[in-house]
Amino acid sequence: LPSTPRTGRGGGHDTDHRRAAAHDPRTGTPRGETLDELDVLNPATEEVIATVPAAGRTDVDTAVARAARAQERWAALAPGDRARLLRRFAATVDDHLEELAALEVREAGHPIGNARWEAGNVRDLLDYAAGGVERLTGRQIPVPGGLDVTFHEPLGVVAVIAPWNFPMPIAAWGTAPALAAGNAVLLKPAETTPLTALRLAELALVAGLPEGLFQVLPGEGPIAGGALVEHPGVAKIVFTGSTAVGKEIMARCAATVKRVTLELGGKSPNIVFADADIEAAAAAAPGSFLDNTGQDCCARSRILVHAPVYDRFLELLEPAVRAFTAGDPADPATSMGPLISAAQRERVRSYVPETAPAAIRGETPAGKGFWYPATVLEGRPDDRTAVEEIFGPVAVVIPFADETEAVRLANATDYGLSGSIWTRDVGRAVRVSRAVAAGNLSVNSHRSVRYWTPFGGFRQSGLGRELGPDALHAFTETKNVFISTEES
Ligand code: NAD
Repeated sequence: LPSTPRTGRGGGHDTDHRRAAAHDPRTGTPRGETLDELDVLNPATEEVIATVPAAGRTDVDTAVARAARAQERWAALAPGDRARLLRRFAATVDDHLEELAALEVREAGHPIGNARWEAGNVRDLLDYAAGGVERLTGRQIPVPGGLDVTFHEPLGVVAVIAPWNFPMPIAAWGTAPALAAGNAVLLKPAETTPLTALRLAELALVAGLPEGLFQVLPGEGPIAGGALVEHPGVAKIVFTGSTAVGKEIMARCAATVKRVTLELGGKSPNIVFADADIEAAAAAAPGSFLDNTGQDCCARSRILVHAPVYDRFLELLEPAVRAFTAGDPADPATSMGPLISAAQRERVRSYVPETAPAAIRGETPAGKGFWYPATVLEGRPDDRTAVEEIFGPVAVVIPFADETEAVRLANATDYGLSGSIWTRDVGRAVRVSRAVAAGNLSVNSHRSVRYWTPFGGFRQSGLGRELGPDALHAFTETKNVFISTEES
């Protein structure tokens, strides 16, 4: 595929995918035929900022064949040379940090401060993964009659299917360790956010990574994504996105026994106990469900508050939410940008219309852009808004009577991705952390993602782990070799 976005409209280069029905990525409405091109909108202005070709099945076939050739050469390189090239890729990303951040602001509407962190995260992940290349060691296992050793062999061609909420970091979570472990990567970005992914592929070439090793295939989920899932030449799918699509992908991977890592939805609790530093908990709470306009799989969108401090917490929360200002994402003073698309705003409205009664409601800029105000609802545990992922700047506050009820409410969804526990009691912090069924918990903090530590979901929030010291292992097969030492 041409990796440079076009601004005009041209003819499609692959027509065999026109037959399937799909949805308009901007409006979410069903269409009769698929797109040859994707218009990329600035969600803060609704302007079309670029048009990119949409990959079809033939493009995927071509990309897989190129990737397989590149992967053979890549895996044959000395580990030190692979590590050096990945470090050079990290340095090239660092040289273009401002440009990548500015692109993220324009295509995803993220505030510039967040976008800079995201671009920096890509650099850090590449550096960290490079450090793993020369430490990807096997074991020597004592067995009778010979020498037994294990090798961690690359899988081959890996496909990373990414969502739009953190386009750059999530693409890198899969890509960096997969490359480090000796694989080639085909990245399918979300329909709405292909631009940073395309730029990263160009930067990989600038850094000297072999042609074909890291390719980006913008396109529609069921078409380009579907072709990758079905392709026998793709060894693994790393999917980050909704639980519904994740389930479908997992089922379809069974046809070729494809390896699969799933990072899916969440409805994470923020549990505030009466013995916590209530001021600190209330001050930190808005960031935990309003960052990225709530379009965060780890958003703490269920705030469970110990009954004795419930009123005090809400009192403190109100000014903190109001201080979280929505506005021009390019302005460093902005805390919250727009939602990604009209379709996403409709989804959020379907849970909570802007006119519904709310305990706290923030402001949004007037005029164009997919804006939705920060909203806090007082709710009951079985409300739809309290158990389903809304993926917008909406939190539900629910009181609880004691530790047992807090744990029961925390676990009362199908998800299990993240959660926070605010308490000064160390014993309680440990007890509740062990009792909550989630992959990533923080005590007196809302941070879930660090590239040094494993990340992933319990239950319907996912399968497998990314990041952390074992990240490369998810992109290898363990091979055992026995060498007889018996005299013949
Ligand atoms: P989505 O499931 O609609 O799409 C994700 C990706 O899958 C996109 O690239 C899309 O084009 C592709 N896709 C869609 N249908 C497909 C199909 N049939 N076959 C193959 N690919 C297909 O999700 P989204 O709306 O882009 O992202 C939001 C969701 O992602 C939320 O549920 C959120 O919680 C989740 N998420 C999870 C994590 C995590 O680490 N657990 C991180 C970020 C986002």
